[in-house]
Amino acid sequence: MRAPLNKTEEFHLRWSEAVQANYGQPKIALSHGSGVEVWDVEGNRYLDFLGGIATNILGHAHPDIVKAISEQSAKLSHVSNFYMHESVLKLAEKLQSFTGTTTARTFFCNSGAEANEAALKLSRLTGRSKIVATHGAFHGRTMGALSLTGQPSKRDPFKPLLKGIIHVPFGDVKAITRAITSKTAMVIIEPILGEHGVVVPPDGYLHAIRERTLETGTLFAVDAVQTGMGRTGTWFGYEHEGITPDIVTLAKGLGGGLPLGAMIAIGKSASLFQAGHHGTTFGGNPIACAAANAAISVLEREGLLAQNVEFEKLIKAALSILPGVAQVRGRGLLLGVVFKSDISSLVYDQLVQEGILVNAPNPRVIRIAPPLNVSLAQVNEFIAVFSRVVQSQVRS
Ligand SMILES: *Cc1c(COP(=O)(O)O)cnc(C)c1O
Repeated sequence: MRAPLNKTEEFHLRWSEAVQANYGQPKIALSHGSGVEVWDVEGNRYLDFLGGIATNILGHAHPDIVKAISEQSAKLSHVSNFYMHESVLKLAEKLQSFTGTTTARTFFCNSGAEANEAALKLSRLTGRSKIVATHGAFHGRTMGALSLTGQPSKRDPFKPLLKGIIHVPFGDVKAITRAITSKTAMVIIEPILGEHGVVVPPDGYLHAIRERTLETGTLFAVDAVQTGMGRTGTWFGYEHEGITPDIVTLAKGLGGGLPLGAMIAIGKSASLFQAGHHGTTFGGNPIACAAANAAISVLEREGLLAQNVEFEKLIKAALSILPGVAQVRGRGLLLGVVFKSDISSLVYDQLVQEGILVNAPNPRVIRIAPPLNVSLAQVNEFIAVFSRVVQSQVRS
């Protein structure tokens, strides 16, 4: 007789019979979480060092977010764009203050792809249609956002995509400044390529693009969907270069785990959208905005952006000296451990066995993006387990 299915096996079966195959078959079924810890349906505990791909900015079930969501849902959960409400205003004002300019105006949506889609539409209102983006960049999966995305494996099955978009090598100042002309409507850049393996451009890259786009009258859009919300030690991931872009897109961590995206337009670009140009039913949803406001309050109150940078130093120092590790790159708590050989999926599998969740964006890189409220003890636990796992993989 066959042994009865355990809960995870039962989930596998139900998933394969009711859910599409676009994500493959996830191995683990999660049950509940608390902060940086999460439990699967078999009762195994994990340290979540991926944070829902840089999205659970305060981990799981943070009491302030739980409280904000439940209080807001008891008042208003959806109002449509015919009405204003407090939580969307508060969030828009906060985001404006983070840009450092009172000219910033925010459009709210529900995801990163939608935020970039909005930026793309906004750029058409300049009267120009050419766009410059970079190889390896990930900007989302809707047809417009996919056209900006510079990853052939994601694009090719869906061609033809939008015309007029050129991709240049990421981090190459000469290539990008040459590609941007007075016909370019917008250039869109990730401050760090997240999905492509945490690739950091050389210092001065964003600054050079800012200078060139000012010369050509091109909108400079920063896709801060993954780097934003304090993850790299600043609110949007570009501030270390001392620039102000024309457009910032956000999602992932913005809603503290709830679906929320934003396209912030700064300066002249803030008045391009006129009534009727764009919209979405759930954009600026009161519950998602309340969760975002609660997350921002905690990040500010607990000084988590500064703490971030301390943990970055600690993790880089500990992991970069491991055998088999070529480099630990990234900024703040968006880090990529780069191996000298293709062992990332082996390391990943063993880490799961040992109760650590991360991901392997490519065969040589493990990405970590833990919640920003991770504790020193949890960082040390992660370092200890990760080091042991890498040492055993390199030896075997
Ligand atoms: C995840 C991501 C997106 C897409 O966001 P979705 O919410 O999945 O549509 C866009 N840009 C970057 C940089 C991302 O990391």
